Amino acid sequence: MRVAIAGIVQEALVFSPIKATAADFAVLRGPEILGHLGVDGTLRDLGMEPVPILCATHLSPSGVVDERAYLGWRDEIVAGLRAAGPLDGVCLVLHGAMTVENVWNGETDLVREIRAALGIDVPIVARLDPHANITEEFANKVDTWAAFRTAPHRDAQETLERALHLLARRARLGHRTHPSFVRLPLLLPGERATTPVEPMKSLLALAREIEAQPGILNAEVMIGFGWSDTPHSGSCVAVVAEDDEHLPAARREAKRLAQAMWDRRHDFTYDQEVAPSIDEAIDRALAAPERSVFLSDAGDNVTAGAPGDSTLFLSRLLARRVPDAVVAGLPDPEVVRRCLAGGIGATVSVELAGKLAMPPAGPLPVTGTVEHLYEPPGGSRDAAIATLRVEGVHVLVTSRRATFASAEDIRKGGIDPLEHKIVVVKLGYLLPRLRDAAPREILVTTPGYSDLDFTRLPYRYVNRPIIPLDRDFVWYPRITSVAGYADAP
Ligand SMILES: [Zn+2]
Repeated sequence: MRVAIAGIVQEALVFSPIKATAADFAVLRGPEILGHLGVDGTLRDLGMEPVPILCATHLSPSGVVDERAYLGWRDEIVAGLRAAGPLDGVCLVLHGAMTVENVWNGETDLVREIRAALGIDVPIVARLDPHANITEEFANKVDTWAAFRTAPHRDAQETLERALHLLARRARLGHRTHPSFVRLPLLLPGERATTPVEPMKSLLALAREIEAQPGILNAEVMIGFGWSDTPHSGSCVAVVAEDDEHLPAARREAKRLAQAMWDRRHDFTYDQEVAPSIDEAIDRALAAPERSVFLSDAGDNVTAGAPGDSTLFLSRLLARRVPDAVVAGLPDPEVVRRCLAGGIGATVSVELAGKLAMPPAGPLPVTGTVEHLYEPPGGSRDAAIATLRVEGVHVLVTSRRATFASAEDIRKGGIDPLEHKIVVVKLGYLLPRLRDAAPREILVTTPGYSDLDFTRLPYRYVNRPIIPLDRDFVWYPRITSVAGYADAP
């Protein structure tokens, strides 16, 4: 069977002031897509002849996507599908939380255009991240989707393979399928819905049990992307029947899965140590027996799409005259330029960072000494780093927004993080390599665009009532995707 492969992968923190432009994506076309995806073996096993078209993948999450960039890729994908000749299926590689300026839900717009081009008969299966916000229209226009079953994510490859297997099964059926879809009034930060612990562990086990039933193609549990202020933001579940005969079972099981998730709504919690304020986190770190404590400035999490330039943490470290700390990092291209011009040992007085951060985290006036300079080699995607010593704090100032995902990344700034008592990072949960290295990690629920406390964020468009913005309301599961079928009770 001939299977087209295409996609756009992006996660939009809609509160973030940083728009995702074309330069923020890696775009692959044609055969290079296959090299990147690494599923040649599965394609061969399933007898699939791949027709790779275009895959645009964000280099790191940010705010909404530039409309012109998105439309360009969308139209290229649709034109490629039209030009591909007869197709037996389409596999879409998506994240599922892409908000495009003036378009709104990017994935829905994309499948709408693809269906319009290919008609209703060609099977379409998507690979998604479970931190996706699904619309009814999306659920009606694809045949099904496969979402990662690990968070933090470790099964991207397996999930794409699962999507291809679902596509093969759907093609053998020879008729359209539709997810029976239930949206829950539940906004979750990913940090409170990791899969090694409850309740996600049991919910995924229940999904597996449901999809083992005869006549059920698959069952998915979607955590949702809570930092997206749209009417379709939130958790959802989906169960797909193979045919009309099994549709009542799929609808019943979708409701059962949704009810199970709802029943556990108060059990979603952090699987790690949390501090409710910067001062509390600093107190605990200073009193800690561990040589080094990593503090995540979770409200300014660059891996969620926040600017990463909030100075709230640094200002508290300085105000409290903490003798030994590292801040990794703060983006400020102008300050990096001044440090590079001054050279190592120079003293600079600057208004540091805070230009994009959510108020009141504005630029912080500091005077510091340039301790270390890192200029990336040509061709590297690294940011330049100027390490500025401000009293007891070593601040890694970067030439653009950067993710410090490992101790090695921080060492590029001339600092061994494990030699310092407090290490502030602009993350949520520590990324796996940093987590492995950190003697202790504390998630700090700071304010900012990726605030883990959703009640402090300025939501305007989410459906209400919804947890945690509202409490004490009655809800029962309802199927809301109805294409092709009468809406049975
Ligand atoms: Zn995710």
